[in-house]
Amino acid sequence: MPPLKLLFMSTPVGPLGSGLGGGVELTLLNMAQGLLERGHQIQAVAPDGSELAAAISIQQVAGALQVPAQFQERHTPIAMPPNPVLGKMWELARQVQLDYDVIVNFAFDWLPFYLTPFFETPIAHWISMGSLNDALDQIAGQVAANFPQAIGVYTRTQAATFPFAEACYLLGSGLDLSLYDFCQQPGSALCWLGRIAPEKALEDAVAAVDQLGIPLKIMGQIQDQAYWQQIQAKFPTAPIEYLGFLGTAEMQSVLRQCRGLLVTSRWVEAFGNVLIEALACGVPVIAYARGGPVEIVRHGQTGWLVEPDSVPDLVKGIQKLDQIDRRTCRQQAEQEYSLAALGDRAEQWLHQVKGE
Ligand code: UDP
Repeated sequence: MPPLKLLFMSTPVGPLGSGLGGGVELTLLNMAQGLLERGHQIQAVAPDGSELAAAISIQQVAGALQVPAQFQERHTPIAMPPNPVLGKMWELARQVQLDYDVIVNFAFDWLPFYLTPFFETPIAHWISMGSLNDALDQIAGQVAANFPQAIGVYTRTQAATFPFAEACYLLGSGLDLSLYDFCQQPGSALCWLGRIAPEKALEDAVAAVDQLGIPLKIMGQIQDQAYWQQIQAKFPTAPIEYLGFLGTAEMQSVLRQCRGLLVTSRWVEAFGNVLIEALACGVPVIAYARGGPVEIVRHGQTGWLVEPDSVPDLVKGIQKLDQIDRRTCRQQAEQEYSLAALGDRAEQWLHQVKGE
């Protein structure tokens, strides 16, 4: 089949490279890399200030950022700020749509779903979160009913949060494994990685290391300053170190030297890109047994799945880390999460959305 001409519409919650978009930024990059390797052509549209470590051009769009869906209540009506970057990005997409075979939407926002039947070029929607908002579920459900295969997701558990679970196309995730180095002999510290926001429950990881006296290295975008300050105030002497939001190269050089990654998400994590980044470095994962991590961690082989929201169980998991062989972790990443495998699945999906 001929190569596809693809328009990638980024998340409107932050510029690419800022970390505000969370895992969707990495997924967009990895999907782009996987598809480029197969000869497809990609143009991206993203908020002003975006950077992407891929050989694709980005059309930058200025405007007010969208409030992330996880900061809103389930019944909150859809809101748009004045001068919305989301609206402007999709106005641009409308103008150039006939130059592309498929438009790929990475925004978990109402507008792109609503616009789908008004476009001539088919739109593939990549949903990177579980269900959060009723209005969004409803409009995405209409798209799922009228455009078979148009909605792609990471995991089954994520799909199951939506009323249209059966219609979701499973894509999983993948990484450029050459960017993550295996480390056989870690230091003594543990790692916590991600956006610092209440749904990620960093406080549980801090409570666990506070009890054990094991150092914890924290990396990620502080999305909620007040929340971060509360954690520091609650655990003033915990052995934690915040290193900032780091680029992949620097982040993995810290991560790979850690004994384990703690994943403490309070919400149904759609996937958890940080888990496969850890596995790629040979770092075992201790995660609450909820959401995407349940489909990633091989319990007892590449980490431990523990009772959700239980700090005592987190502590027990940490105490069993030595039972995990770090080589098995790297092997799992190679077997299940290569860029080639992601590119392959994304290619098949997009051909179907195009109707081929
Ligand atoms: N991340 C990063 N640098 C950091 C900490 C995190 O680049 O210092 C990235 C990480 O690589 C991952 C993303 O932040 O891609 C977090 O994504 P995840 O899927 O775990 O959760 P989300 O934020 O989407 O809920």
